[in-house]
Amino acid sequence: MKLSERIVRMAPSATTAMAAKAKELKDQGRPVVSFTTGEPDFNSPKAARDYAVRAMDEGQTHYTVNAGMKELRQAAADYYERHFGLRYGVNEVITGTGAKQLLYEAMGCLVNPGDEVILFAPAWVSYFEQVRLFDGVPVIQDTQATGCIPDPQQFEKLITDKTVAVVLNNPNNPTGMVYPHDVLEKITRIALKHGITLINDEIYERLVYGVSFTPHLLQLVPEARDFVLNINGVSKSFAMTGWRLGYALGPEKLIKAMTSMQGHITSNTSSISQWAAMGALKESEEDVERMRKVFEQRRALVLRLLADIPGLSVLEPSGAFYVFMDLSAFLGEGKKWATDVDFCEAILKEKALGLVPGTAFLSPGHVRLSYSCSEEQIVEGVRRLKEFLA
Ligand code: PMP
Ligand code: GLU
Repeated sequence: MKLSERIVRMAPSATTAMAAKAKELKDQGRPVVSFTTGEPDFNSPKAARDYAVRAMDEGQTHYTVNAGMKELRQAAADYYERHFGLRYGVNEVITGTGAKQLLYEAMGCLVNPGDEVILFAPAWVSYFEQVRLFDGVPVIQDTQATGCIPDPQQFEKLITDKTVAVVLNNPNNPTGMVYPHDVLEKITRIALKHGITLINDEIYERLVYGVSFTPHLLQLVPEARDFVLNINGVSKSFAMTGWRLGYALGPEKLIKAMTSMQGHITSNTSSISQWAAMGALKESEEDVERMRKVFEQRRALVLRLLADIPGLSVLEPSGAFYVFMDLSAFLGEGKKWATDVDFCEAILKEKALGLVPGTAFLSPGHVRLSYSCSEEQIVEGVRRLKEFLA
């Protein structure tokens, strides 16, 4: 069988692949500590579970309209009004099978072959491949020299007549950076000036520590509304990864196009998940804050422990649940490990510790640690890391 060129050149998702490898080892009986996937270890909020059970009992087990139930789209719009003072109508909202699907659909609706999409590296693993799946060209702006915060001037220089979109991910996966408001404002103004779509992935917007996520970039630049697609979902802040429920809010033209595309892919996401998300968005505020506080404590713990490892350079995060570490002092020719990929494979094999290589995020020489696991696991995992590096 001959596979398409498109799929042959695609690299599989390294985050999910590393998580699967860690799990395989665990199934073999090894005492694995996995810092791989960004997945909260909490159970989903009670309201979400209750809504889902009620929906099943009441026979809400049929297809819904492709964009998702009107009540849920309204709940997402209400959430944006409550938190950011932004008003969206139900026709400007789509729900789908995770934010991942909505990002994919957005690329499908915006990118023609050869079109360019600007990504800020380090960048979450799937953006690059999603652009290429539509024969688009990812154009990478490396932000490491500016502390993993995009430089607006450099961004503007990368825009060509082929640029159709830019992906902003704030708070950022894998760095945990929360972008300053002046940077957000400048980038939004530049996107607007050049008429390119800003895909604003803010799935970690509730998970910030000691800084404020608000004002929203559309509160800073309201006139950019027709060029911004907000991507969000219940996976991270509400600990609902398995339900596969993401939502997006943006200009009706784009939402309508994404809805048509979704009609040929999954139709709607699971009706039960839609009900669960309604419970989450309407009645789970306290759960979100409770979990955020736990992440805040874990963040402090992991940073304290990592600071004790000689030679390790850690970028202090203020959002999400990741720490991105520079391992370049330990890698290279003549050293024990040539690359971050070799390092991650070796530490998984020898110490049963799962980490994700920076290469997956377009930043070789680094590793990402996800602290969305228990304090005991954090302590044990960092102990193994320290021992391995020593
Ligand atoms: N965007 C970012 C930055 C993420 O880290 C994730 C994590 N999977 C997603 C989107 C997709 O989330 P989901 O599909 O679970 O909603
Ligand atoms: N977004 C999470 C991560 O980066 C989950 C895995 C994925 O969807 O890539 O680990």
